[in-house]
Parts: sequence; structure tokens; C-alpha cells
Amino acid sequence: MSPGSMICPNCEKLISVDAERCPFCGAWRPGMYGVTPKLHRLFGRKLDLDSVIIVSCVVLYVVALVLQPSAIFQWQGIFNILSPGSRALYQLGMTGGLAWQSGWWWTIFSAIYLHGGLLHIFFNLMWVRQLGPNVTEVYGPARSFVIFTVAGALGFLVSNLVTGVPTIGASGSIFGLLAALIVYGRRRHISMLSAQLWQWAIVLFVMGFFMSGVNNWAHLGGFAGGWGAASLMRFGDEKRESPQLQILALALLALTAYAVVMSFITVTRVMLRT
Ligand SMILES: [Zn+2]
Repeated sequence: MSPGSMICPNCEKLISVDAERCPFCGAWRPGMYGVTPKLHRLFGRKLDLDSVIIVSCVVLYVVALVLQPSAIFQWQGIFNILSPGSRALYQLGMTGGLAWQSGWWWTIFSAIYLHGGLLHIFFNLMWVRQLGPNVTEVYGPARSFVIFTVAGALGFLVSNLVTGVPTIGASGSIFGLLAALIVYGRRRHISMLSAQLWQWAIVLFVMGFFMSGVNNWAHLGGFAGGWGAASLMRFGDEKRESPQLQILALALLALTAYAVVMSFITVTRVMLRT
């Protein structure tokens, strides 16, 4: 492919980057002034969103422990080994509780990447590693990240509206990934896959009622969010990800980073005042 040519994101034929309209399908400005090929390269090779999710969770977990080290040594039982303190978690963007009462809406994005203990983060990241690459393979990386984010945020929105308890964790997003794969199994009539995934989702959901501190509303909302988002999307082998969708994924990534920074600034300012 010469530097001036690209694949039309609409009809997938080889066209010029500078084309006003695609000569094959008539799409307007398919190159978006040179942005489209850059996005395709970014999502094609450089940006592994599964790794971005996992690394972000681990980094924020360590930062949460460092911000409030006293919480590390408080023994609160097996499910709370190495639990970050709630002050540190609010600083990094925990949602519900004080954050929701104070109107910090952006925490529904940051809270996805925070975890309350070693087992919590271990199990969640294991699920991300298990499901993430499959969802990415089926939908494409940008669509997968949109599904992950929409599911997690909707899960927390539901939880905040129904219970309002302080809450964190990627499990709402994980339920969203499960739902997205079920949507795939249904549309492609792979009933074995759907049945297996339904079984996982139900077992995971029921398990939530037997463990303390599990946010079942976030799980339910995450599943619904993942289902809804995935239903609106095409699969990777049907249609390449559009530049608009890739920009949406990057925007959600930026919004999440903004949410962590905003939380840190806002909560630290409140702490310094009191
Ligand atoms: Zn075209």
C-alpha cells in the first residue's frame, strides 16, 4: 500500500487518503484528513487495550496502597488481604457514597479500574485476560473497549441510583464482556458457546449473593450495558471498525484518565481543607 492510499472504512476498497469522496461507495471524506490510516495503525498494532486495562488496574491498586499505607496492615479477613483504605480509593475515583452524593459523576468511569483487595483484583484480572482477547477477536479492539467501558459505567450508574453504596471494581465490565460474547453466540447460532457463557454468567451472578461486599446491581447493570452496546455493533469479520468508533474508544479512554485525575484533585483538595 502506498503512503497515499488506504482502505475505505465504509466499503473496504483501496482508495486515496485525500479523496473527497470514496469512488466506490461515495462515503464523504473517508480519510478524515489523514486521521483514518493513523487510527488503523494505532489499533492494528500499537494499542493493546487488554494490556492497557490490566496495567491500569495494577498501577492504580499499588498507588491506592501507597497513598494510605496504614490500611495495608489491618487484618480484616481473607477476602480483604491488602485492601486499600477508602480515603485512598476516593482519591483515585471510587464511586457511590460520598462521591455520588457530591455529584462526582465521572467516578462511574474511574471506579472500574479500582479494586478492594488482592483476591478482588486477582480474580477480576483473570477474567479480563480470559474474556478480553476473545471479545477483541470477535468485535475488534475499539468496539471491545467501548463495550467494556459502557458496561462498567452503566453498572455503577445502576448501583448508585439503587443503593448508593461506595463501590469499585471491573466486575460490571466483565459481565459486559460475557454478555457481548453471548450476543455473538446467539447471532452466529453457536449455541454451545452461548450456553456455556450463560452458565458462567449465572454462576458468577449467584456467587455474588454468597460473598460479602459484592455489588450485584453493578453486575446486573454491567451485563445489560454490555448486551446493549454489543447489540448495536457489527463483528470484526463483517465490518472494519470505523474511525468514528475508534475515536469514541480513545475518547472514553481519555475520559477515564480524566476521571482519575479529577477525583484525585477534588478529594485531595477536600482533605487539605479539613
Ligand atoms: Zn468506500
